[in-house]
Formats: sequence, C-alpha cells, structure tokens
Amino acid sequence: MALFSGKIGLVMGVANDRSIAWAMSEALYAEGAELAFTHLPGDSSKRRVMQLVESRQPKIVQPCEVRNDEDLARVFDLVRETYGKLDFLIHSIAFAPPQELRNPYVQMSRAGWHLAMDISVYSLVAACRLAAPLMTDGGSIITISYYGGEKVIPNYNIMGVCKAALEHSVRYLAWDLGSQKIRVNCISAGPMRTLSSAGVSGFDVLREHAVKKSPLSRIVEPSDLGKNALYLLSDFSSGVTGETIHVDCGYSIIGL
Ligand code: NAD
Repeated sequence: MALFSGKIGLVMGVANDRSIAWAMSEALYAEGAELAFTHLPGDSSKRRVMQLVESRQPKIVQPCEVRNDEDLARVFDLVRETYGKLDFLIHSIAFAPPQELRNPYVQMSRAGWHLAMDISVYSLVAACRLAAPLMTDGGSIITISYYGGEKVIPNYNIMGVCKAALEHSVRYLAWDLGSQKIRVNCISAGPMRTLSSAGVSGFDVLREHAVKKSPLSRIVEPSDLGKNALYLLSDFSSGVTGETIHVDCGYSIIGL
C-alpha cells in the first residue's frame, strides 16, 4: 500500500510548476495522497494551478488570500464539509514588497514590515489554528524556511527576519498542538529558482556559492524537498516536532 493512501492534505502555496509546494505535492501524489489546494485569488493564479492539478481531479482548489480571515475560514470549512478531517498541511507561503527587499533592512517601512510578517509568518499561526480541529487523528504540519533566518544573507533582509520568526513560531505551535498529537515542523531549503526567489537580488550568486561551499557540491533539487516532505508528513517522523530540518546539501554546517 502507498505511504499516503487514505491521507488527506491541504497544500497552501502552489503558484506554478517551480513552486516548492508543487515538488512536495508531486511526491505526495506518487505516494497516494488526496490533496486540496489553495492559490492566490485571481484568474491567472487559478489557471496556473489548475493546469498542474486537473488530471488529478482534486475536490478542492480554492482562492485564499492569507491576510483575509474569512478566506482562511472558508477554505478550512470546505475541507471539513468535503472530507470531515485533515491529516496534514503544507504552508509554503511568503511575501515581502520587492522594492523594500532591494533597500537595506534599516530602511524598512513599518507598513512593509507588517505586511511581510502577516503573510509570511502569521498565516502559519492562523492556518494551524484552523487545521487543528480537523486533525482528529493527530496530524502533521510543515512550513518552509531559509538559512537567512539564522545568519545574515545580504539582500534577504526582512525575509530573514520573517524566517527567524517562522522557525520560532514552529516551536511554539509544536508545544501548543502536541497534546492533540499534531506535529509542526519546518524545512529550511537551499536556494531554488522560483517566483518568490526571483524577488531576492543576487539570488544567482547565492546559488553559485551554495554549489562551491556545500558538502554535496550541488544545488538542492525539487525531489530533495519532496522526499523530506514525505518524511515529515508521514509516521516515519513520528517523534519529531518543533524541528527545523536543513535540506540544503549541507550548506549550513560549513563555517568557512
Ligand atoms: P513560490 O512563489 O512558488 O511560492 C510562494 C507562494 O506564496 C505562492 O504560491 C504565492 O501565491 C503565495 N503567496 C504569497 N503571498 C500570498 C498571500 N497574500 N496569500 C496567499 N498566498 C500567498 O516560491 P517558493 O520558492 O516555492 O516559496 C515557497 C516557500 O519556500 C516560501 O516560504 C519561501 O520563502 C520558501 N523558501 C524558498 C526558497 C527558494 O530558494 N525558492 C528557499 C528557502 C525557502
């Protein structure tokens, strides 16, 4: 029997075929999971996601602006009405105003700071709160971080501060939800070319540096992230919660 047969998951954050959430979805589909998806509101977002998923005939593909509490509540209500339960959740969402990312962090505006934190961090808290009552047999929740939340990576700026808050939110959420047998973990991914990473100046330099410095001498592949999602979302990681796992070809262990 496939690892995820009979398991139902909600995937938040597929924008296109390069999205980390899509790499994870492909791995989960290959293991028999039933998936529901949310995407940014708008026809073009919907079209791009539908092109990827329509052959799988998902029961739920819904717009969801994560700043909007009504949108979030509607999606989780629909999951409850459709399936009556949820086994896992992928939160793969981040945003910072591009012009603010180009400025030094010290220039960050109050409004831009709140917007980035709301979309990139608070959305995980809100999604966990709504997912928990549906995870009646326990569950597993993952989100995606980057090394720029631990160390200063030039140009990553507010997003690094968001990732630090995200990783620590994961620990507090793991504490809050542990008694309900819900695990919350984070994957700290190496740099990959996606829609979001295009907003980070000098991103190609980061990738080149990662190849030179990483013990595995390569860039992380979508399948590396897919396989780690299978681990964290399945019973193989039954004793792991509140953790950030680096899937970065070892980049983060090197001090040179
Ligand atoms: P992506 O652009 O494919 O995914 C980002 C997603 O966030 C998109 O689906 C977008 O629609 C969604 N989003 C943004 N604002 C939203 C809002 N207001 N409401 C709802 N959804 C919203 O890029 P990705 O690289 O796959 O990013 C996924 C996650 O991985 C992000 O948290 C990102 O920071 C993280 N990450 C990316 C890299 C990388 O190198 N690409 C490395 C480490 C971590």
